[in-house]
Amino acid sequence: MINPKEAIDIVVSSIERLETAELDLESAAGYVLAQDIVTAHDVPPFNNSAMDGYAVIAADIADASDESPVTLKAVDELPAGKAAEIGVEPGTAVRIMTGAPVPDGADTVIQVEKTRSENSKVEILAAMPAGRNIRLAGEEMSAGSLAVASGTLIDHVVVGILATLGYAKVTVYRRPRVAILGTGSELIAVDEPLAPGKVRDSNSYALTAQANEIGVPARRLGVAVDTKEALKEALAVALDSADVVVTSGGVSVGDYDYVKEVVEELGGELKFWGVKQKPGKPLAFWMVGDKPVFGLPGNPVASLLCFEEYVRPALLKMMGRHQLFRPVVKARLTHDLKKKPGRVHFQGARVIHDGSGYMMAINGKQGSAMLRSIAGANGIALIPADTTKVNGGTLVEVQLVTLPEDH
Ligand code: AMP
Ligand code: MG
Repeated sequence: MINPKEAIDIVVSSIERLETAELDLESAAGYVLAQDIVTAHDVPPFNNSAMDGYAVIAADIADASDESPVTLKAVDELPAGKAAEIGVEPGTAVRIMTGAPVPDGADTVIQVEKTRSENSKVEILAAMPAGRNIRLAGEEMSAGSLAVASGTLIDHVVVGILATLGYAKVTVYRRPRVAILGTGSELIAVDEPLAPGKVRDSNSYALTAQANEIGVPARRLGVAVDTKEALKEALAVALDSADVVVTSGGVSVGDYDYVKEVVEELGGELKFWGVKQKPGKPLAFWMVGDKPVFGLPGNPVASLLCFEEYVRPALLKMMGRHQLFRPVVKARLTHDLKKKPGRVHFQGARVIHDGSGYMMAINGKQGSAMLRSIAGANGIALIPADTTKVNGGTLVEVQLVTLPEDH
């Protein structure tokens, strides 16, 4: 058996980024950029007003106040979208809207609330230093600079930046299609009534949701019963239709645990089976050609934990992300904890920051079959293999699993 660090290294080094494709900007959200985005022009492209008001010369209104307004001649009006044609000269002002180009000669904009207009004149009721309320050309990005680096996830903000820069099409990495297959003759679907010896399949639903959280297209193939034939048929469909296959159950040492045998019959090259961890010891990983196949254990907590720790980083790498792992911090345990030596324990935890540092409590009773034991956890505490006892107050590493990957 290998340790979790070795296991994740094997997973990540066995897989490659998928190929790239060109997409319309409208459909690019959720993909990862496969090109550096360089701005061809300044942003903003011209000096423009940050306020609705009057473009003026600061020196003209240096002494303006409520009591002694300065009167200027209003010589033009600039709605957003209009090019400035008339410049501002001493004694004059141009009415200007937010986003309109600042006319030549003006060096400040006074907001409309500090003016009083009458006919072709405007009274300025306050002074305004030069440069105020003007957004300068190139102040956000200058022509030729790198705006968004390859490897960045295209979220709604990046979509906005790409639109600003005129990228109607972008090159992205293709996202892996994931097939998710439960195994077990005891499993019934969510809408079936319970019967003796039967339990509902929760893994195929929960794992599909986990894949959806990354934005990869996941297909839930339901459940195969524990015969080699059923398993082989379902796995063949999975391998045919997906880039990544995730199974749950049937990978341990039980009499009807056929997943290992069948994946290997289908050409799977076993990379590892068995990881010194709890939960999730029977985790298996194969490559079938260039397709990764993850054999997750059946116990629900183990299944979801192994997805988080191994499948998720793999999918992120395939979709082009550079950062594959959640932030890890040290948090002060609020209680004592005991464990057997030999395996790394991953335990669902609640982590808070109390202003001076992180504190955490392990969620109530932990059990690899008890989903409720990880419900609401925002951390996965990492208790080292050799540790047998942790005293309350000790700093323990924890992955912050509600935050995006940062390394
Ligand atoms: P296995 O790994 O197949 O030996 O399964 C271990 C335990 O997990 C058994 O109690 C199974 O009933 C349970 N289990 C396996 N697959 C699922 C599933 N898809 N949903 C819920 N429980 C499961
Ligand atoms: Mg089983």
